[in-house]
Amino acid sequence: MQPPLTPKNESDRLEALYATGLLDTPSELRFDRLTQLVQLCLGSDIVLVSLIDTARQWFKSKQGVAVCETHRDISFCGHAVLADDIFEVTDASLDLRFTDNPLVTDAPFIRFYAGAPLTVQGERIGTLCIIDAKPRQLNAKERQILRKFADAVEQEIIDRQQEHADVALNASRDQFESLVANIPGITYRCDADEHWTMRYMSSSIDPLSGYPASDFIANSVRSYSSVIHPDDTARLEKAVADAVLHRHGWILQYRVIHKDGRVIWVEERGKAGYDSNNNVRYLDGFILDISEEKNLKHQLITLTSQLPGAVYQYQQWPDGRGAFPYASAAIRSIYGLTPAQVKDDASVVFSKICSEDLPALAHSIERSRQQLTVWQCEYRVRRDDGAIAWILGKANPERMLDGSTLWHGYIQDITETKQHYLQLEQVNQQLHLAQQRLDTASENALIGFWQESLTHDEVWWSPIIYHILGFEQANTVPSVALLRSVVHPDDRQLVAESDNAALETGTQDVVHRIIRSDGSIRWVHELARVLTNADNEEQFLIGSVQDVTERMQLQQLKNEFISTVSHELRTPLTSIKGALSLLNSGTLGQLPDTITRLINVAYSNSERLSQLINDLLDIEKLAAGKMNFELQTVSLFAELEHTVMNLQPYAHQFTVQLRLEPIASAIQITVDTSRLQQILTNLVSNAIKFSAKDAVVTLNATPTTDSVRIDITDTGVGIAPEFHARVFERFAQADSSNNRQTGGTGLGLAICKELVEKMGGQIGFDSVYGEGSTFYIILPLNKQNNTSNQLSRVNNENIK
Ligand code: ADP
Repeated sequence: MQPPLTPKNESDRLEALYATGLLDTPSELRFDRLTQLVQLCLGSDIVLVSLIDTARQWFKSKQGVAVCETHRDISFCGHAVLADDIFEVTDASLDLRFTDNPLVTDAPFIRFYAGAPLTVQGERIGTLCIIDAKPRQLNAKERQILRKFADAVEQEIIDRQQEHADVALNASRDQFESLVANIPGITYRCDADEHWTMRYMSSSIDPLSGYPASDFIANSVRSYSSVIHPDDTARLEKAVADAVLHRHGWILQYRVIHKDGRVIWVEERGKAGYDSNNNVRYLDGFILDISEEKNLKHQLITLTSQLPGAVYQYQQWPDGRGAFPYASAAIRSIYGLTPAQVKDDASVVFSKICSEDLPALAHSIERSRQQLTVWQCEYRVRRDDGAIAWILGKANPERMLDGSTLWHGYIQDITETKQHYLQLEQVNQQLHLAQQRLDTASENALIGFWQESLTHDEVWWSPIIYHILGFEQANTVPSVALLRSVVHPDDRQLVAESDNAALETGTQDVVHRIIRSDGSIRWVHELARVLTNADNEEQFLIGSVQDVTERMQLQQLKNEFISTVSHELRTPLTSIKGALSLLNSGTLGQLPDTITRLINVAYSNSERLSQLINDLLDIEKLAAGKMNFELQTVSLFAELEHTVMNLQPYAHQFTVQLRLEPIASAIQITVDTSRLQQILTNLVSNAIKFSAKDAVVTLNATPTTDSVRIDITDTGVGIAPEFHARVFERFAQADSSNNRQTGGTGLGLAICKELVEKMGGQIGFDSVYGEGSTFYIILPLNKQNNTSNQLSRVNNENIK
């Protein structure tokens, strides 16, 4: 047996065979119909369309046989594809090449074989063959028939191949169409003419322009340039022409006018295609709707321009390079640099930062970069004019694919806040110091402070109050009730009245005794004031409690001493004064002038001494509440006239005039007349003695609905502002050095104040230093009840 030879062009032949795509495919009617016809026409047992593969022959169509392939070595067709002509074996049993071929010796016991090669793309890929179990020889006609059928099979193979190619093409076109349709943009190819005549345009142009792609293709209804905003056309044409000329692509943003009139921003990326002669064949491009992006950008710019600080992105690469890919315009107000100046290089920004803050800033950036944690830092920037600004920055880091880090952040100028903060810190320190000083002072002076919220019934005490009241701080909850529980029973009424008065007048000023838990009795001075919190209208009572026991004891001692001394001095002084008066009267004989002068001096001094003692006794009486007032209703005018008459000689002595202004004689007042005279005498005599020569001292009275004000006005020396607060204090004199000339003890006004207040009135003064003073008293008009109330209270009062 002789196996078929392998053709020289075997690899090309196999390639052509594989290109048909026939191998191992199901049988097809187009081939079976032909093999059936061949079987009928040529009366053969077996008809095959056999394809010669590497090591086998495979039957695409077969009649009269069941197997679908045999080994190539035993194939007859393997021989048939070696030449163009029909390969015919008339009796295989006699042919040396096939006598021992298993297909000859065994079923199907081939005797006759005729195969016409099938040539596709110039290669013999197989055969159309007929086989019989009996020897046979084809005549010329039969050979022709076989060849014609082989040609028909070849044509079917080519047609089939074409059909498959078409199907594949259509499938890939469909795939392309659907791909393009899914791209969120428009692809196009157009001519490089003035209208950009479209050859292809994807259907997504429809939603963008409102017109279908078919409208634009070949400018069938309209040109693409007709939908471009007229203001953008010239710029676009120039940019595309430039790009085409320099053979590079273009990226352009322009506006398209939609059919419904909307203006849509698009971005187009394109490039030209050239032929071998460098002539432009077409323009290819891609158009994307960027309206939303544009809107967002616009919104971002509008929003960021409203912010007091700058929004930015800072990018830092592993080699240390930094840049601000985005920065809002406000970056200028912070660093004095525009977004464009910092876009590619951040070093200009760092050069503006105060050098002493740079290490901490760099450290914070590095830590945020390594740990990808939020960056936050306060640092200073030196402005171009030398001013220093405080900046606060905060940003979120993000690691980029190239290993760089991108921070999205916000920086703002906090100079003002920082300055306030620094000032606040300073004030806090001062406050802390002041508090410490106050604490020390209040400890030394035994003064405690407390605060009561009248709205929320909350009480706060400073620690010294526990000590003053004799409570253990640890076991005591501050309360007003607790404060009042220690009041001495004899002083409860006084404290209750002062509490009520505080609610009415807003201030409290009371000295009273307390009994501490150890039984000891102490004196305390309570001062309090109602305050209103402007923010929430909450009312507070803020007060102090001072332990004044020692002061009170001293005062009591002093009062007792003064009282004793005064009483002891009064009797001998009366007899001295009587004796001097007797000597002076001449009843005991005429004395020499020098002695008379000395006696006069002695007499006037004894008068002063007597006045002092009287004053001291008055003070003592008032303090002890032993001063009695005999009230009667009298004419005010008559009282004032009486004072003026009494003091006329004194005024004469100082060559000062007294003037009583006209007063309605009907004004009646209810007073103790001798006390009123004592008050008026003191005020008018002060006015006289502090007046210059020939000056006038005026007395005037002005009634109101329920009171009358009496003014005593002089144009004398006036009272220095620094002395104003002490005018009514005991023994207070503005200039004690001149009391020899002016006389006086410094007790007069203190006594006047007590007397006026005890009669339900008020005393005060207005004075301009160097120009004169007006002392006034305000007395209630016929308010007997009021006055007697006051008096009864006065009599109960303790030492003041
Ligand atoms: P004295 O007995 O010293 O006058 P007063 O208590 O009456 O005591 O007055 C106290 C002090 O007030 C006086 O020493 C004087 O400094 C001042 N003073 C009182 N009245 C007048 C006045 N009309 N003009 C100027 N200073 C006055």
